Amino acid sequence: MPAKRIAVVDRDRCNPRKCGLECIKYCPEVRMGVEETIRLEDGLLIIDEELCTGCGICVKKCPFSAISVVNLPAPIEGEEVHRYGINGFTLFRLPIVRPGKVVGLVGPNGVGKTTSISILSGRIKPNLGRVDEEPGWDEIIRHFRGSELQDYLRRLANGEVKVVSKPERIDRIPQVVRGRVKDVLERVDERGVLEEAIQLLGLGKLLDRRVEELSGGELQRLALAATYARDADVYILDEPTNYLDVYQRMRAAKLIRRLQDKGKSVMLVEHDLAVLDYLSDYVHILYGEPGVYGVVSHPHSTREGINIFLDGYLPDDNVRFRDEPISFLPRIGGQEVSDNPVVVYTEMRKRLNGFTLAVEEGEIYSGEVVVAVGPNGIGKTTFVRILAGELKPDEGMVMTEGVKVSYKPQHVRPTYEGTVESLLRRVAGSNYSSSYFRAEVIKRLGIERILDRYLDELSGGELQKVAIAACLGRDADVYLIDEPSAFLDVEARFAAAKAIRRRIQGEDRAVIVVEHDLLTIEAVADRIMVFSGQPGVEGHASRPMDPRRGLNEFLKDVDVTFRRDPDTGRPRVNKPGSKMDQMARARGRYYP
Ligand code: ADP
Ligand code: ADP
Repeated sequence: MPAKRIAVVDRDRCNPRKCGLECIKYCPEVRMGVEETIRLEDGLLIIDEELCTGCGICVKKCPFSAISVVNLPAPIEGEEVHRYGINGFTLFRLPIVRPGKVVGLVGPNGVGKTTSISILSGRIKPNLGRVDEEPGWDEIIRHFRGSELQDYLRRLANGEVKVVSKPERIDRIPQVVRGRVKDVLERVDERGVLEEAIQLLGLGKLLDRRVEELSGGELQRLALAATYARDADVYILDEPTNYLDVYQRMRAAKLIRRLQDKGKSVMLVEHDLAVLDYLSDYVHILYGEPGVYGVVSHPHSTREGINIFLDGYLPDDNVRFRDEPISFLPRIGGQEVSDNPVVVYTEMRKRLNGFTLAVEEGEIYSGEVVVAVGPNGIGKTTFVRILAGELKPDEGMVMTEGVKVSYKPQHVRPTYEGTVESLLRRVAGSNYSSSYFRAEVIKRLGIERILDRYLDELSGGELQKVAIAACLGRDADVYLIDEPSAFLDVEARFAAAKAIRRRIQGEDRAVIVVEHDLLTIEAVADRIMVFSGQPGVEGHASRPMDPRRGLNEFLKDVDVTFRRDPDTGRPRVNKPGSKMDQMARARGRYYP
């Protein structure tokens, strides 16, 4: 494919005040006197697209990895939809909103998913890549001539489309919305459907609570209910499943489907591939160079779109956007577990503020990852706190004393006031320089790019990566990692799964992961502990068991069946009542 190679700057990382500007000093064009090629303008580094030859010398000189050389694939030239300033991030093409359909967006963070939905919701007026003279709506509409988007954008420009969105960062809701849950919801009930949403999302018990007191999962459900209750033509949901357990994810999916039944358009950004697959009618893949440019693929059927995304090759643009496919070698079954237990416990019982947890006897071996599955509020954290000696069981005991636990809570808050590097050096100590930590954690999770950033400047995904790194960096016998996948894109979910597995390989340590993303569970689990019962009232923890059996029991409890995609081997949710679903139920095989 003919392509133009140029150097581009990532504005999030470029910091001309802190570096020696070696990119400019060493540019061969500048040295030959063509000073316009790469220059500073108002404190911003500018690379001239016409003059740059894409030699890549500046890329090597930049201490912040802020410059990269990219190939602009030929088919997208002339398809710029929006650019943030000179050399700023550029988005090519837009996803298509379809009446009565759920359209899913999948792709790494930083390639324009939020920009796309901001344009489709009218928050950003697209500039067609021109930053000096913004085009008017007439020109924008003409630009999309002959595409399904033309009519949509015309109606958007005329104020004839009403869009409501659920933002990604639900943790910021308490800063802008205050008061009792009930009052907040009543204010937005434009369709008179509040009761239905409250029931389905299980919000009944929260109605008298104040927004500031809600947990992440509770805020997520509140935000979903509020979005659902509004009256609009288009509903945009940015990462609706973060912090929700599998039961809640399935119920949220049901709610979203009801919008579609009413003929509404839904656009969804989702990194839980099982949910994306289950909900979407079409999928757009977004690819590019994070922070630099992003391309929206044409719409694909959901199965095909997700398989293309996993494969990393997009046939319609003839672009390989990832060097390697994400492959599914389900780890499930047959893994040899060592016979050296890190933790051994008898049958136990613990009562805590009206909640009772009953635990079957069990042991956790060195070198294994046990995934705890079950609803929120069922006692998973209580169980680990017992192992760590923070809580004493009322009955039974932990036979291994003084087990050291490193814990990543579900909700990560940027409470530390220094840079990422200083935090990680502090918690990891001498581990910081170990080859495991540098290669498997810092590098694999892509943390090296943000080492000099402060915690409160990080995005949700970056914060999550730092929290996982901090947890894995500590010296411990048992690592408890609660929902590592929240806010991470699909690639990062698999990278985190690898970093977690490598932590314990050949070591006298074990990991317990609490996780709700089925594909991540598969990628990480040696054994499964099923927690069941009634959230907040009573919980029952099974022995750690063979993953296939564990997931089967768990999914039976969730009441949902899966099958495998014949091409990629990935698990797919069966539509309730479909032939596949009925067959799976008849055979008692909820998990394939
Ligand atoms: P995604 O949702 O896929 O993570 P976004 O659309 O949020 O991606 O952002 C893509 C890139 O656009 C980001 O890396 C960021 O650098 C840039 N960007 C986003 N918003 C702005 C803005 N208001 N001004 C300048 N650059 C922006
Ligand atoms: P998990 O780690 O499975 O979410 P925890 O061990 O934190 O569960 O929860 C059990 C205890 O915490 C109980 O005392 C319960 O009252 C309380 N709790 C935590 N989250 C919830 C929730 N979402 N709903 C009800 N109770 C909860």
